[in-house]
Amino acid sequence: MKPSPFDYARPASLDLALATMAEHADSASLIAGGQSLVPLLNLRMAPSELIVDISRLLELREIRDLGDRVFLGAGLTHAMFEDGVAPDPGNGLMRKTAENIAYRAIRCHGTIGGSVAMADPAADWPAVLLALGAVAILRSEGAERRVTMNDLLVGTYETSLHQGEIIVGFEIAKLPPTARTSYIKFNKKVGAFATSLAVAVHGETTRVVIAGAGSRARILRKTSEALATGADAIACIGGDLDEIMSEPDAYLRQLHVTTITRAIGEVLGA
Ligand SMILES: Cc1cc2nc3c(=O)[nH]c(=O)nc-3n(C[C@H](O)[C@H](O)[C@H](O)COP(=O)(O)OP(=O)(O)OC[C@H]3O[C@@H](n4cnc5c(N)ncnc54)[C@H](O)[C@@H]3O)c2cc1C
Repeated sequence: MKPSPFDYARPASLDLALATMAEHADSASLIAGGQSLVPLLNLRMAPSELIVDISRLLELREIRDLGDRVFLGAGLTHAMFEDGVAPDPGNGLMRKTAENIAYRAIRCHGTIGGSVAMADPAADWPAVLLALGAVAILRSEGAERRVTMNDLLVGTYETSLHQGEIIVGFEIAKLPPTARTSYIKFNKKVGAFATSLAVAVHGETTRVVIAGAGSRARILRKTSEALATGADAIACIGGDLDEIMSEPDAYLRQLHVTTITRAIGEVLGA
């Protein structure tokens, strides 16, 4: 199937892109890397009267050192993290994540902002940014708001982005050198989305996150608390999963238990 005919705009600045989106909020789609949007257009499953191309906006590729935090533009590609062009406030976690997304051709185009906006429940960046406690910076014409990843991710392919809003980037606290991280992805073949993805960050702040187990990436609350306080985190996994998984599936449940257990083991140095 081919997309319906559409108009195409490539605004020269972020302000122009925001103005275009404000004017055509009901009928326009942003395109960044196009790795998810183009298939959706071909299936005629995305608004497509106007495609607004933000892939060349340098403002979306900004990297700013904010002292204890880093600002990373939404237009940075997976390959930029893989290649070390973008800094990694997660002590190597972001680089490892990027390396494991799809395959190189997709990583050269796909962006961190596009991945989060797409909100695939099994995607890598939403889970990792949630584990890192990232804050998304969102802009619409004349307004800006800051939203935690927990509030941005709503459900399967669903975020709390308003119509016409653009993710401009993410602020991420730099992990202290002593913090440990783990990323355990199980997928059916190389380059595919995760069937189960467990991410753990353990240091001053501790978060254990699972993706692929529900409609969106989630923090395992009791497991994270137990890990933070030195209690038996493994014993809490089952209870957390029961709250997250709507349809109990013995194989998938055991798979998630396994990836989470391995992630916890890694951050504990076991
Ligand atoms: C074969 C294949 C394998 C893949 N494997 C994986 C994988 O293993 N793990 C994984 O995580 N992902 C995977 N992906 C998805 C890939 O990472 C995409 O790059 C990503 O999901 C979308 O990023 P994009 O920049 O291409 O966004 P686009 O396709 O351009 O856009 C996606 C959506 O986000 C919106 N959007 C884009 N940028 C912004 C922004 N700044 N603000 C607001 N809205 C925005 C668009 O309007 C659109 O709705 C795979 C994709 C393919 C095709």
